[in-house]
Amino acid sequence: MPQISTGDLLRENQKRGTKLGLRAREYMDAGKLVPDELVLAMLAERVSAPDCCDGYVLDGFPRTLAQARALEERVGDDDFFVVNLNVADETIIERAAGRLTCKNCGRIYHAKTSPPRKAGVCDACGGPLERRADDAPEVVRERLRVYREKTEPLISFYREKGLLETIDGERTPDEVFEQLDELIPGRA
Ligand code: AMP
Repeated sequence: MPQISTGDLLRENQKRGTKLGLRAREYMDAGKLVPDELVLAMLAERVSAPDCCDGYVLDGFPRTLAQARALEERVGDDDFFVVNLNVADETIIERAAGRLTCKNCGRIYHAKTSPPRKAGVCDACGGPLERRADDAPEVVRERLRVYREKTEPLISFYREKGLLETIDGERTPDEVFEQLDELIPGRA
């Protein structure tokens, strides 16, 4: 199943210098949400690709009630479930501050908890590692504020519909993977 991250799609658009990428940059760099209509049009195009016909995992979407309603219109109410990864703000700030991404293949490292073998170089492809501009602590704080205002209300929205699963995202990557792995066969 393809994993579709709206953040990744937006960053790809920025790299390619598309009109959407240019419009999105000012919001992303400031830690704000990209307007719904831009995200929805971009995602509609991606999920109509042939690799999505047997399902897909959305990552970082929906982030607003309007996005959740648009998703519901597209796929109905009983054909998906939602996973909420529960992580404390301070942990999020620490994880983002140390996050390094390979410019070439997108593999993710953490300066402290999962560093590359050679500083600044991707183990997998030898590409250069970079920090996301919006992972700076002051931008992450703004992203968390926006999360509280716009995205957190989706927790009760989906809980009331019986579509919500919550897992403990404070644990190690392997333990989080295990929790997800246990959850998915029961729900899919
Ligand atoms: P992410 O890679 O999920 O951390 O997203 C990085 C940034 O991209 C966010 O802070 C937003 O500016 C933008 N973004 C990603 N997904 C969405 C979305 N579903 N709705 C609005 N903005 C988004």
